[in-house]
Amino acid sequence: MELLNSLYPVLPQDVNCPTHPVSAMDYMPVEQLRALQLHRLKWTVEYAFERVPLFRKRCDERGVRPEHIKTLADIKLLPFSKKIDLRDEYPMGLRGAPMDEIVRFHCSSGTTGKPICIPNTLGDVAVWQNGAMRCLAMYGIRAGDVLQVSYGYGLFTGGLGLHYGGEGMGCAVLPTGGGNTERQVMLMRDLGVNAIACTPSYFLRIMDEARRQGVDFRRDTKLRHGIFGAEPWTTEMRDTIERETGIVAHDIYGLTEIAGPGVAGDCQHRTGLHIWEDHFYPEIIDPETLEPLPDGEVGELVFTTISRTGTPMIRYRTRDLTRLHTEKCACGRTMRVMDRISARSDDMLIIHGVNVFPGQIEAGLLRVPEVAPHYQIILSSTDTLDLFEIKVEVNADAFSDSVRKMEDLRKRVFDAVKSIIGLSAKIILVEPGSLPRSEGKIKRVIDNRRK
Ligand code: ADP
Ligand code: ZN
Repeated sequence: MELLNSLYPVLPQDVNCPTHPVSAMDYMPVEQLRALQLHRLKWTVEYAFERVPLFRKRCDERGVRPEHIKTLADIKLLPFSKKIDLRDEYPMGLRGAPMDEIVRFHCSSGTTGKPICIPNTLGDVAVWQNGAMRCLAMYGIRAGDVLQVSYGYGLFTGGLGLHYGGEGMGCAVLPTGGGNTERQVMLMRDLGVNAIACTPSYFLRIMDEARRQGVDFRRDTKLRHGIFGAEPWTTEMRDTIERETGIVAHDIYGLTEIAGPGVAGDCQHRTGLHIWEDHFYPEIIDPETLEPLPDGEVGELVFTTISRTGTPMIRYRTRDLTRLHTEKCACGRTMRVMDRISARSDDMLIIHGVNVFPGQIEAGLLRVPEVAPHYQIILSSTDTLDLFEIKVEVNADAFSDSVRKMEDLRKRVFDAVKSIIGLSAKIILVEPGSLPRSEGKIKRVIDNRRK
C-alpha cells in the first residue's frame, strides 16, 4: 500500500506550479525523471507479476523475476504484450486491481472480432486526466476557456478523456459528443467556444457544415484551438485546417490500452509530441527483430504504463511507427518527444509491389480542393491481378449532377494520387459523409486480397 500511494504524488498539487500553470513534472530534471521511472517500473512489474497470470507465466518462461529489473535498460528482459493478448484474455484476464477498485471500463473495437476491454481504477482515471490536462495546458488552454468535446462519448476514450482533462483545467466543457453537426456549429457560435476536441476528419466535416451555414470561423466564432487526434493526420491536413479557419491545430495522442488521449501532445515548437513519460514509459523497437532501437531511429512504439493498476500494460506494442528525438526541445520540457504518428505498422500496404501508406493518399487528395481527404482504400484480387480502388468523398458544394464535371474531377484526383504514389488507382467519387465512420474515424483500408 505504501508503494501504491507513492505512485500518486504528482496529483493534483503539482499541476498548478506557480510559474507555469502546468505540471512541474514536465520540466523535471532528467536524472530525477529516470529515477522516478525506474522506481515506478519496478513497482509495476512486481504488481503485475503478482496479479496478472499471463504476465507471470511469460516471465516464468523466460526465467525473469521482478528483482531482475535493476535499471531502466533491464526492461528489455520483460515479455511484450499485444492487442491479441487483450482479445484472448477478453474480457478481464489482464486486470491487475481487484474489482472493488475498478471504476470504469473502456473498450476499443479495433478491426475485427471481439473488442478489447480495459478496466480502470480511480487512480488510472486520475493519471489519464493528468496527461490530458498537461496537454491542454501546453496548448495554452486555460480556466475560463469554453471547450467543446466532439469526440464520441462512451466506450471510446476520446470523449471522456478530453472531458475530464477540460474540467480538470477549469474549462467550461460542452460535451456535444460526435454527430448532429448542424447543432455543433450553432452551439460553437452561440456559446463562444474557444477550443474544440475531435478527430481531424470530423473537424473537416464541421468546416463543411460551417461553410454551408455561411459561418466564417474568424468572423463569427471565438474558436482558437483544435485538439485533434485518435487517427493519423498529415501536416498538409493541419495546414489546410489552420489556413481555412485561423485556429491552431494541436496534436494529441493516446490509446485505450495505455489510457486514452493525453499520453502525448505537441508544444508550440512542433518538433513532435512530448510523451508524459513519468506515467507512460516509451521504447522504440525493430518490429521484425523486436530489439530495442536507440533514440533517433524509427520503429514501433512500445509503452509500459508505470503508474496504472487496473490494467498494467507492460511493453505493449502499439503498432504505431515513430522515433524518439535525441535533441532537447526548445520549450524546456524534459519529457521526450516523438515524431507525429504518420502510420501504423500494419497500415503499410504493398500494392503491385510498391509500399503505400494511407497518409500519402491523403496528401494527394489535399491537392484537389473539391474533395475532402475522406477516403477508403479497397483492395481485392482476381485470379490474375490486384484491384486497387479508392473511394473519395466530394465536398458538399462541389458535388454535382453533371457527369462531365464529375468525370473531370475524377481525373484530377487520379492524377493527384498517381503523382505521389506512382500507381494508378480506380477513383470512385462518393457523396459527402457517405463513407462509414466509427467514433469519427474512417476505416481507411479494406484489404480483401487473398493472402
Ligand atoms: P483503435 O485501435 O480501435 O483505433 P483507440 O481508439 O484506442 O483504438 O486508438 C488508438 C490509436 O489511434 C493509436 O494507436 C494510433 O494508431 C491512433 N492515434 C491516436 N492518436 C493519434 C494521433 N494524434 N496521431 C496519429 N494517430 C493517432
Ligand atoms: Zn517542447
